[in-house]
Amino acid sequence: MEKNCPIHPNNKNEINCGICEQRFCSLCLSEENGTVLCSKHKEIYLKGPWVKSIIITCSEEASELGLSLYRFKEFLWESKEIPTYLSFNYSYSKNSFLTTMELNSLNKDLSIITSLWTDKVNCP
Ligand SMILES: [Zn+2]
Ligand SMILES: [Zn+2]
Repeated sequence: MEKNCPIHPNNKNEINCGICEQRFCSLCLSEENGTVLCSKHKEIYLKGPWVKSIIITCSEEASELGLSLYRFKEFLWESKEIPTYLSFNYSYSKNSFLTTMELNSLNKDLSIITSLWTDKVNCP
């Protein structure tokens, strides 16, 4: 795995861009509402508009579904060049911790994303 920033070879790569998942140094990254973005994808982010295309809420035991949503996000970017980013919320209810994962996508990609996701498993 690359250890240095692809744009600044003298700097260590530190954090993944929330959209392309590539690692960059801190000079290349900025944060918008809790999402870290590289300079290229910050433009896409700021243009929007973003919608929550998939929302799943699972207990910790069901984290397999969270993993499949993460893989789905990678698939969308790598095979279809559809930009998305994930956001997380944590809550405690009925004696268990719950994680809510939201897949955010551009409004124009909403219908293709939801049709591709239909085949996948649902939260137990
Ligand atoms: Zn990026
Ligand atoms: Zn850099």
